[in-house]
Amino acid sequence: MKRVYNFSAGPAVLPEEVLREAAEEMLDYQGTGMSVMEMSHRSAAFQQIIDDAEKDLRELMNIPDNYKVLFLQGGASQQFSAIPMNMMKNGKAGYIVTGQWAKKAYQEGQKYGEAVKLASSEDETFSYIPDCSDLDIPEDADYVYICENNTIYGTKFKTLPNTKGKPLVADVSSCFLSEPVDVSKYGVIWGGVQKNIGPAGVVIMIIREDLIPEETPVANTPTMLKWKTQADNGSMYNTPPCYGIYICGKVFKWIKKMGGLEAMKAHNEKKAAILYNFLDESKLFKGTVRPEDRSLMNVPFVTGDKDMDAKFVKEAKAAGFENLKGHRSVGGMRASIYNAMPIEGVEALVAFMKKFEEENA
Ligand SMILES: *Cc1c(COP(=O)(O)O)cnc(C)c1O
Repeated sequence: MKRVYNFSAGPAVLPEEVLREAAEEMLDYQGTGMSVMEMSHRSAAFQQIIDDAEKDLRELMNIPDNYKVLFLQGGASQQFSAIPMNMMKNGKAGYIVTGQWAKKAYQEGQKYGEAVKLASSEDETFSYIPDCSDLDIPEDADYVYICENNTIYGTKFKTLPNTKGKPLVADVSSCFLSEPVDVSKYGVIWGGVQKNIGPAGVVIMIIREDLIPEETPVANTPTMLKWKTQADNGSMYNTPPCYGIYICGKVFKWIKKMGGLEAMKAHNEKKAAILYNFLDESKLFKGTVRPEDRSLMNVPFVTGDKDMDAKFVKEAKAAGFENLKGHRSVGGMRASIYNAMPIEGVEALVAFMKKFEEENA
C-alpha cells in the first residue's frame, strides 16, 4: 500500500487514523453486525453516532445553546439558495464578493431578492480581502454574507467585517475547524465538510435559532430547504448522509485528541509558515496573495511561466505530491494544507520545490 501527499482542495486528505478506524469497523460497527452504511438512520446505533457528532462539534467550537447544528445534504452550493430563502425577510442582503464561491452565492441571492454587492476584490483577481470596516450596508439588509476562506484564491478574512448589527452569514467550507472561532459573532456559520472535515455529501449548518423562520419569506420554498423542517427533525426529516456524518464524528474526536482548535491553529500556522517562507525567498516560485490576507489552508503560487508550471505539476506528481494544479479558473499551482496534512508533507513539498528550483533556475 502506498499513500501519497494529497494537496487536493477538496475532497481532500483525511486523518489516516480515522480511515483506519473506519476500515476496521466496516463490516461490523461496534457489535451491530453491520456497516454504518447498512444501518437504519432510525436505529439506536445511528442516533448515538449523530448525537455524539453534534456533542463533539459543540464542544470543539464552543457553540452556544441558542444555535442549532444541522447535518444536511445538497453540498455547500445548495445553501447559496437556502440562505436567501430562509433569511430574506426584507428581501435584501449584502454580499462581499471575494471569489467564485461568494460570487455564486451573490448571484443566487439575486434570484430571491435584492442582493447588494457591498465590496469586491474582483478588480485584482480576488488576490486580497477588501477593507470591510465601514461598508455602506442598507438599513434594511437581512444579513451580510461572506466566504471566510477563499479556497480557489487562497485569501482569508483575518478580521470579520463590521456588519453594523446585521447577522453575519459565513461560508467556512475550507477553514472549518482550522482554528478557534467565536460562534456568537455569526448568525450562520456553515460549510461543506469535504475540504477540512469529512467525505463529500455533508453540509454542516450552525444557525442562531432566531434566524430559523417559522415560515420562509420566499414563497414555495421546498420543504427540504426550509431550515425549520431540518431543525424540527434533528436533521432527519429524510435520510441524512449517514456514513458521512459518521466519518465527521470520527474527525471531531481526532481533533479533540490532537488538542482541539487551538492546537489545530498552531499546527496549521506552522505548516503554512514553512511554505510561505519558502515562497517569499524563492527565485522561481511566488505566492499570488497579498501577504496580510493569506489563507492557512489554501496556498496558490506560480512561476510566471505556464510551461514551467505544468512541468512542476507533472514532476511533483511523479514524486508523490498529488493535486497541486491550481483551480482551472486561475492556473498555476495550489497546495491545500488542511488539518489532516502532516507537517512532514509540507516539509517534503518544500524540499522538492527547492530541488526543482535548482534544476530549473
Ligand atoms: C468547495 C466550496 C464550495 C462548494 O461546495 P459544494 O459542496 O461542491 O457545493 C462552496 N464554498 C466554498 C468556500 C468551497 O470551498
